[in-house]
Amino acid sequence: MGTRDRFTSKVMCPKCKQEGVLHVSEEEYRFSPPNRSIDQVDGAFSVAVMRGVKMSLTCGKCGETWET
Ligand SMILES: [Zn+2]
Repeated sequence: MGTRDRFTSKVMCPKCKQEGVLHVSEEEYRFSPPNRSIDQVDGAFSVAVMRGVKMSLTCGKCGETWET
């Protein structure tokens, strides 16, 4: 069993400056890294959760991809 944290994170495309908000939830385990998932994305972005807590974002407007 873990505890579930929810938070929002503002994002901005480094190229076209489109802004959006990620609604993130994170499950914390005592002996393993947190399990992060994206519940909702406000804005034209697609998000992929990478190993651990890194995320890869792709802008739906200009196609720019970056990590956060
Ligand atoms: Zn963009």
